[in-house]
Amino acid sequence: MEFLSVFLALQGLETRRRALRASIAAAPQKVKAEQDRFHREQAAYVEESSRRQEHDAKRLALEEKITQLAERLKKDKERMTGVQNNVEYQALLREIDHAEREKSDCESKLLAVLQSLEESGVALAKYQSGFDSATLEHETNLHAIAAETAQFEKDLAQLEADRAAIAAELPHEHIHLYEKLAGSRAGLVVVAVQAGCCGGCHVKLRPAILSQLRHGGELMRCDSCSRILYLPERLAPSAAKAEG
Ligand SMILES: [Zn+2]
Repeated sequence: MEFLSVFLALQGLETRRRALRASIAAAPQKVKAEQDRFHREQAAYVEESSRRQEHDAKRLALEEKITQLAERLKKDKERMTGVQNNVEYQALLREIDHAEREKSDCESKLLAVLQSLEESGVALAKYQSGFDSATLEHETNLHAIAAETAQFEKDLAQLEADRAAIAAELPHEHIHLYEKLAGSRAGLVVVAVQAGCCGGCHVKLRPAILSQLRHGGELMRCDSCSRILYLPERLAPSAAKAEG
């Protein structure tokens, strides 16, 4: 019966052992996710800055154009007084009309660009004020992942030491069998017999196996899934005795 309680003790540690290993294995992904998140945030800032520069260049070009058109209109209107004939007068009127339309078009475009600049300015101010705190947050997040992983590693090392101390009570071939089954049976190695069936795969057990289990002392395994079997009713009194 001794080997069985050692197996059960090992199995009791198995869930935590697997969880710790999975958490440690997931650490590089966590770091990458955090870095990606931070880089996306920075890229958004750079994109917004270049958008603002584009808008600003458009604003300058439009303002320049509007000034030129205003000057031209002023000159054209001055020329009106010196017009000699009707043909010249009509031509000048058309020119003024054309320039006025063009100026008005530029002014509406300028309004739209100023609107975009204002929006872009608000967005950038938000990024800029949050930039230092975002960098700090990123560093804090990376530290937290590293600290958490270090703790998982420490816990796992302790758990492995505990396991080794427990496993030391088993003969080598039993340890080997346990490790092999733990790997292939997702950590569920030792199972109770339930109503004559294997508690792992639920296949009905042969009467000879059940009888040997009742007799006790031998390591019995399920023919179907190879897990190590025990009768709960045989385990219970000894566990009670050990506690008392
Ligand atoms: Zn089975």
